[in-house]
Amino acid sequence: MDKGTKKDYSKYFDFSDAKIVSQEDGRTTYKINGRNIQINAAPSYQDEKRRGKEDIQVLAFGNAETEAAMEQFRELNQGRQHYYSITTYGCQMNEHDTEVMRGLFEAMGFQPTEDRSQADVILLNTCAVRENAEDKVFGELGHLKGLKLEKPGLILGVCGCMSQEAAVVNRIMQKHAFVDLIFGTHNIHRLPHLLQDAYFGKEMVVEVWSKEGDIIENLPKKREGMRAWVNIMYGCDKFCTYCIVPYTRGKERSRLPEDVIAEVRELARQGYKEITLLGQNVNAYGKDFTDREYRFGDLMDAIREVGIPRVRFTTSHPRDFDDHLIEVLAKGGNLVEHIHLPVQSGSSEVLKRMSRKYTREHFLDLVRRIKAAIPDVVLTTDIIVGFPGETEEQFEETLSLVREVKFASAFTFIYSPREGTPAASMEDNVPYEVKQQRLVRLNELIAELSLESNESLRGQTIEVLVEGQSKNNPNVLSGRTRSNKLIHFEGPKEWIGEFVQVRVTKPQTWYITAEAVSPPERAALSHGA
Ligand code: SAM
Ligand code: SF4
Repeated sequence: MDKGTKKDYSKYFDFSDAKIVSQEDGRTTYKINGRNIQINAAPSYQDEKRRGKEDIQVLAFGNAETEAAMEQFRELNQGRQHYYSITTYGCQMNEHDTEVMRGLFEAMGFQPTEDRSQADVILLNTCAVRENAEDKVFGELGHLKGLKLEKPGLILGVCGCMSQEAAVVNRIMQKHAFVDLIFGTHNIHRLPHLLQDAYFGKEMVVEVWSKEGDIIENLPKKREGMRAWVNIMYGCDKFCTYCIVPYTRGKERSRLPEDVIAEVRELARQGYKEITLLGQNVNAYGKDFTDREYRFGDLMDAIREVGIPRVRFTTSHPRDFDDHLIEVLAKGGNLVEHIHLPVQSGSSEVLKRMSRKYTREHFLDLVRRIKAAIPDVVLTTDIIVGFPGETEEQFEETLSLVREVKFASAFTFIYSPREGTPAASMEDNVPYEVKQQRLVRLNELIAELSLESNESLRGQTIEVLVEGQSKNNPNVLSGRTRSNKLIHFEGPKEWIGEFVQVRVTKPQTWYITAEAVSPPERAALSHGA
């Protein structure tokens, strides 16, 4: 975007020139480039940015109308089995949303398929955090066009964070008119109705809500494996200047503790071995409650009492990491000693321009307090290099902070301008090659620290939750330690899903080779039920 220019986002959905085919119940059908497009609700950048004072409503999924829509698909699937396929991009939040959509599809009688040529419905659950994630989706749409031409009855849908962007929806409507369905992150529960419109009508259906969103409980979920994601909150109010998430995911809203705890208890009863509590900023949990004082530390303390062997959380924000939370995490038990704590930059000046609302000193002090309370804690992080105007000295401050904290691993990114965010109009005098070199230098340092952290475990016996077999060698199993380190060791596939004690024999940079000390002790593993 040109420096300093402000885009008029309202223009994106100005279809005053397009022919209106029909208008009823707040839905307008336009004819655009020869395709009829039914718009139930369109994304609005202005509305996504707005943060109102309205109370968040907690609603139960389903009513007679939804049940009728689902029943219609169950009948259809009794006549002929229909298949769905969902491709998920981006973060754990999207993966969890996919679990909900899979739950909905299967409640409507659909079967999953990996083979897209067999699918009757294909959804792309998209990510908008960086430009390359968006490019991938547009590339994928190009591939799917051929399939759609061969099989005109196929329903092709785009959902997730990209759908919340007016510019993206506009581009799909203008240039990818073969897409049948676009919906956003706030109205996933409307899938049965949207599918009905797309399947039984011939129009492209667009329904993207920009309102802050309610919390819908009791949605069906189809989970796999022995690890489960549990959303504890939605949205983000931090508005870091580079980030699109507050626009695509709406206002911060926490699920009620009783609903979260009931879900965790149920997962324990079903025998899940590990849960990860999810939110863009989990330690802002409870800030939006108006009827109680209850924060993330309180929730973790309550979940500590539930018989599920391992509890993780992601992602926490340094600004909201309070002493009560540190005190609770230090109690250990099922609360693992791994904290993912995104720092983004080691320079207070850059952090200020990112609007992270903490300084380098504040972050280092927080790390000191965490390490004092939890001596064996393993810290990992997210870092952005090449933020607009980042100088060589400021980048070196990031390197020195990373060295000082000794992060065991990190997700590192080159800054990607996101249209509509404040950073996208900041002056950027850092050449792209310089940003690339900084990423390489940072990754070299992270690799060095990761090996150092893994080396510190040489000869130790540690607990591994076995997740599966290695792709290259079926005799080798892979799993994770409590601190989330990847372990490879030899063992039979019957151990998948169990806890095994292993001795570390060969620490490497990104994984650790170990040997089993003894088979899993099943009696000792009967947590949960
Ligand atoms: N809520 C989390 C937090 O505050 O750390 C992170 C959410 S975001 C999906 C994951 C990571 O993507 C961020 O921590 C940040 O490092 C990175 N990210 C977000 N926006 C970015 C951008 N415009 N360019 C590059 N990386 C970005
Ligand atoms: Fe984005 Fe910042 Fe919110 Fe994380 S805290 S989702 S980086 S705005």
